[in-house]
Parts: sequence; structure tokens; C-alpha cells
Amino acid sequence: MINEFALIERFFKPLERLHADIVYGIGDDAACVKVPAGYDLLISTDTLVADVHFLKDWDAYDIAYKAVVVNLSDIAAMAAKPAWVTLALTLPELNIEWLERFTQGLAAALKQFDLALIGGDTTRGPLSLSLTIHGLAPQNQARRRSGACPGDKIYLSGELGAAAMAVNFLEDKSLSSNAKEILIQKLKHPYPRLDFAELLRTYATAVIDISDGFSADLNHICEASRVGALLNLKDVPIHLLVSHYQPKHALALALNGGDDYELCFTIPAQQEENFLALAKEASLKCYLVGSIEAEPGLRFVDDKGVLQCLKPEGYKHF
Ligand code: ADP
Ligand code: MG
Repeated sequence: MINEFALIERFFKPLERLHADIVYGIGDDAACVKVPAGYDLLISTDTLVADVHFLKDWDAYDIAYKAVVVNLSDIAAMAAKPAWVTLALTLPELNIEWLERFTQGLAAALKQFDLALIGGDTTRGPLSLSLTIHGLAPQNQARRRSGACPGDKIYLSGELGAAAMAVNFLEDKSLSSNAKEILIQKLKHPYPRLDFAELLRTYATAVIDISDGFSADLNHICEASRVGALLNLKDVPIHLLVSHYQPKHALALALNGGDDYELCFTIPAQQEENFLALAKEASLKCYLVGSIEAEPGLRFVDDKGVLQCLKPEGYKHF
């Protein structure tokens, strides 16, 4: 048996990557980093609990990978650049094989996004992991939920519904094994949209990442900005497999299913042309889905041309 300290030394210390801005990382009572002059520090924590955010029988590689990318998505939603991570890990038992897979997934995600693990905590209890991620943005340039104004256009960074379909309809007999694999990948390895950061810092008035569900998360922008939104439901981008295999549920999965980690953001109408030109130049696809209005609440026009209220729905823990 190895003790807690040997465990940290064996599994976590090797993941420490000493960037120039880290004075010291794992091994002391706290890590020490330098925030570059002219930058703000953004801090965000996300906890993943077994059988709530992932299933206990998932490959530990996927559990670690997903924990990192969902945290990265919060930094992406601030239009910032990720820098450092701490990891609080609670394990029911000491399982070397599990820890090996876990740290392989962790290492892969850290490497892919050039992140440094600088510390954490390791305890015994029901399986859960809590990551705190630190990001940097040029002073006063991080984007919040609260800046949307009437007239702004509402955009999405990608197609929705695939992760929710993986949660709800994976047992559908008509799914090909290839389709199944793509959906599982969408759920376990979502891509955090850090590629939008610069564009959003230049043009967006408000940004959020879609973790709970598009309608619920857009509603967060509306409430924080004290505005409302008119959506064009026909323009909401739905993942091809979702519209193909679940045509009846597709729109609901796209509107209310969570775990997509695409970004929803608002662009002033007079900046839209410049924004689209730059997005095209950067090969970033985006989807116009509606506009911000002064009146609170979410709305859409139905098939008969009647204005209807849209109830924001998404995952709620309580
Ligand atoms: P303390 O007793 O002061 O809380 P610990 O024994 O918990 O210290 O941790 C020792 C060192 O190992 C610290 O630098 C801590 O940040 C690091 N550490 C502990 N657990 C982890 C982990 N899961 N991932 C990364 N670093 C960790
Ligand atoms: Mg500790």
C-alpha cells in the first residue's frame, strides 16, 4: 500500500508543468504563481460527482478529461485564456489501475490545452473531483453575462443536443455503432470553445457556456443583463445525428439538454458585419439564432405567426 504522500508524488507531481509564470507548484502548502502585468485573473471551480456528472463505471481517463474540459469551458465563456489548475480529488479506495487511467486522461487534457497542474488535495470518500481553474484576460476585457443590450444579435458557437441525446437515447436500437460512438464522444470529450476568446473580447457584449441547457443558459444572460430574447427556433443549430435519429425530440434536446459546452453570446447589430468577417477569417462557424429585446423573458414566433413564451429549461441540481 502507498500512502497519500507517495500517491501524490507518484501520480500528480509528474503532471506538474513548470511554466515560466509558476514560482512553485505541487509540494508546498500553497502554489505560487505570477499574474502578468496588465492581466486580470479569472477563477472558476466545477465539481463532478459520481452518478450525477458521470457514471462510476466510466473509464477513469474520461472522468479526468471531462473534468478538465468542463472547467475550461467556463474560462472560454469569460473570453479568457486558461493558465493553471488545482485538483481536489476524493476517492473511495486506493486503486492503482484506476489512478493510472485517471492521470493519463488528466495529462492528455492538460497537454492539449497547455495547462499546468499546480496543486490540489487528495481525500477518501465517495468519488468526486473538484477542479479550480485560473485564467488570464487583458485587464477589463473578460466578458460577462451582464452586457447584452436590446438590438444585440444572439449567436451560438456550434450545434446542440448531441450530449443530451447520449444521456437519454443511447439505447435506441436504430443507432449505428458509429453514431453511438460519436454521441458518446460528444458527452465524454466535449470541446471547450477557447478558440472564440479573442473574437469575443473584441465584439461580444455578453457570453455564457451552455452547460445546463441553451434556453436556461440564455435566460441567465437575459436576467444578468435585464433584457429578454426573441429566438428563431428554426435557426437553432441541431446536431445532425439528433435531428436524424430523434426528429420528435430534437428541438427539445437542443433547447433544454445540457452538456454541449458550446458558447452563446451577443453581438451589437452595428458590429455584426465585422464580427462575421473576422469569424470567417478565423474559420470559426457561428449560428445566428435571435435577438435581444428590452422586454424580459424568452419568446419565439410559432408556425401560425403567433408570439409565444419559451420557458427556460435545463438541468437543475436543486
Ligand atoms: P496539506 O496537508 O498542506 O494540505 P497535502 O498533503 O494535501 O498538503 O498536499 C501536498 C502537496 O500536494 C500540496 O502542494 C498539494 O497542492 C499537492 N496535492 C495534493 N493532492 C493533489 C492532487 N490531487 N493533485 C495535485 N496536487 C495535489
Ligand atoms: Mg491538503
